Amino acid sequence: MKTTPINFVSPINFVCPECGSEILEEVSIGIVQYTDVTGIRAGGELEYDGNTYSEGGDFDGYQCHACHFEIPVDGPEQLLEWIANQNDEDEKPKNLVEWFDVNNFDHIKAYNHLLIHGCWPEDFLPEDIEIPNVWQVGLANKLANAYVEESYRAHEI
Ligand SMILES: [Zn+2]
Repeated sequence: MKTTPINFVSPINFVCPECGSEILEEVSIGIVQYTDVTGIRAGGELEYDGNTYSEGGDFDGYQCHACHFEIPVDGPEQLLEWIANQNDEDEKPKNLVEWFDVNNFDHIKAYNHLLIHGCWPEDFLPEDIEIPNVWQVGLANKLANAYVEESYRAHEI
């Protein structure tokens, strides 16, 4: 039987809900930091060679490295839960307009069915998909944009 070694490190899969950055950082407060002083500049300022180490410090939370969005959790277990839930939400079917894929010919065929028969083909829409009030406008807009993009692409060739 294959077992995963205890020191195996898998990626954290963090995506900041505010800015999309994927770098998560832990924040500690009350740290004492030591920095080596290595010289004196001509102007009298001290020079540091970048060698630092720190001691102590208390856990204060987790946040996005880029925008400092604070993750609403109290510790590592909650953090892992929060990340797992966040990833679940990403996999939830979106609303019809977001879900409809103009590059998927099955979707185009279903749309054509809608034009001809006034309804979607049976079993085309995912069961729990949300259908916004203005889905027709949203879809028409998406298809029109795709048509314009496609026309430009064809023109460039
Ligand atoms: Zn962020």
